[in-house]
Amino acid sequence: MAITMKSRTSPAPMSRAAAMERFTKDLCAALRPSLMPDPRRPGWSETYLMSICEAGMARLAADPRSQPMAARSLFSSARSLMRAQDQLLTSRVIEAHMNRARTFFERERGSSGLDGTTPRCAALNRKSKPCGREPIWGTPFCVSHTQRTESVV
Ligand SMILES: [Zn+2]
Repeated sequence: MAITMKSRTSPAPMSRAAAMERFTKDLCAALRPSLMPDPRRPGWSETYLMSICEAGMARLAADPRSQPMAARSLFSSARSLMRAQDQLLTSRVIEAHMNRARTFFERERGSSGLDGTTPRCAALNRKSKPCGREPIWGTPFCVSHTQRTESVV
């Protein structure tokens, strides 16, 4: 890991982990007012919203080009939690935030460079060759080789 915690002396650019966390929080904060209250399970929808936003941002960080799919899948996971009159708003908020995150992750990828020290997905593809895609932050596998937790209820 090349990232140091000494960001005070030199204003280092935001680390990817920090960026993911911030984008997730921003997106959640923007969506929260549209949540339908669930009196039977107080706090549940906030927690669930946070977890699907996190999953969406992790996916985006691993592969910025997956943005349209990631946004669609996040919207389909989130829509049942949202007020009926806010469905369109929800889809627009997700789109806008994920576009912003995509731009950041694409720029970050361009500046860090593929110098061989970048971790690569450890899984084998269908031709039994190393997958080689960029792994999801903090895991050894890329988005295709990570078991989806978002579909598990
Ligand atoms: Zn992979």
